[in-house]
Amino acid sequence: MSLENFIGCKRCGACCRAHGYVKLRPGEVEAIADYLDIPLYDFTSEYTRLTYDRSRLSLIEAEDGSCIFLDGNDCMIDEVKPSQCRTFPLKWRFPGWEKICKGG
Ligand code: SF4
Ligand code: SF4
Repeated sequence: MSLENFIGCKRCGACCRAHGYVKLRPGEVEAIADYLDIPLYDFTSEYTRLTYDRSRLSLIEAEDGSCIFLDGNDCMIDEVKPSQCRTFPLKWRFPGWEKICKGG
């Protein structure tokens, strides 16, 4: 798989199981908390953690290392998922992404 060969997302969920941060941009914390209909503080304390450099919040992982909002191959917050997720792999991607993405 290469970017040139990427036709479209197959919704396999592999990128949501990849190790690494799912960073939240300004406004995304509020949007997800609203979508889940829980107070902002509850969302940040239950579902997020600081990145290593303490510059951003990231979603936490489930015990198996997948994103906490992955259900099967589906995203539980699809309508308000972070920009990082929405733009993968066309704009945002991580090293080695082509080895796991089946979007072609
Ligand atoms: S927020 Fe949704 S799309 Fe993004 S990594 Fe988690 S499950 Fe995947
Ligand atoms: S790994 Fe690729 S094909 Fe699979 S869900 Fe992510 S973007 Fe879509």
